[in-house]
Amino acid sequence: MNIAETIKETRRIVKEWKMQGLTVGLVPTMGFLHEGHESLIRRCAAENDKTVVSVFVNPMQFGKNEDLEGYPRDFRRDSRICQEAGAHLIFHPCPEEMYPPDFFTYMDMDTITEGLCGGNRPGHFRGVCTVVGKLFHIVSPDRAYFGQKDAQQLSVIKKMVRDLDFDLEIVGCPTVREADGLAKSSRNTYLSEAERQQATVIHRSLRYAEEAIAAGERDVKTIREEMIRMISQQPLADIDYVEFVDWGLLQPIEKLEKPALVAVAVRFGDTRLIDNYLWE
Ligand code: AMP
Repeated sequence: MNIAETIKETRRIVKEWKMQGLTVGLVPTMGFLHEGHESLIRRCAAENDKTVVSVFVNPMQFGKNEDLEGYPRDFRRDSRICQEAGAHLIFHPCPEEMYPPDFFTYMDMDTITEGLCGGNRPGHFRGVCTVVGKLFHIVSPDRAYFGQKDAQQLSVIKKMVRDLDFDLEIVGCPTVREADGLAKSSRNTYLSEAERQQATVIHRSLRYAEEAIAAGERDVKTIREEMIRMISQQPLADIDYVEFVDWGLLQPIEKLEKPALVAVAVRFGDTRLIDNYLWE
């Protein structure tokens, strides 16, 4: 497995592969890899001749008061996980490699980015679109793999690829969970023991929604109120949003119609966790 810290070196390696007619898959990550990332890398390795994993904590997608400085990092461990999961190249640039001081060009999106996490994290999706757009140009992958856990991000990237005619396929992958249902996240390491226990309410509230929908409930207000009640019972939980949107442009809905996304963001102390249920 190769490790490249520069755009030039990454391009050189990928170009060689392409000259041999090999297919290339990309898994963009911010590192501190867990089984969620690993499942993306394994799938990518199964579906492409060569797998590139990018490990880059993207400053542009963090707000002023967010956890950029404290975001967990362990590149040695990440390298081992990538190798074991079948990656061929890690692209591990420093911030200056991606954003030199004279960097002034951005990719951004309306509408889909205005609600959910975009509403609470201004500029977040501009940072995501810009870095992912750059990664697509640098790696030129045939396919790129994203987790359903970050459902709005997945939707935004799919739309960006359609709108700006990127020539690749976006593959959405299922959310990997802890045994008690909590979605795996690099940010779970921030949680205290009590927060960690109470955080399971996120998944329980989504299971409740899933069951209510399966039982025929179509009124968003009814399900949403019960989810908010469940989450609010946990003293350390501070709800950012519990939203029901269509699985297209992510606009709020009042009556459930397929496909719809039930999305939840909850803060435990300084840690903001997200999860969702896609009804499709
Ligand atoms: P991150 O490093 O948090 O930016 O995540 C990198 C990629 O891994 C994104 O496409 C995420 O959606 C995906 N991912 C993160 N957590 C999970 C999970 N628990 N299950 C599946 N994919 C995940």
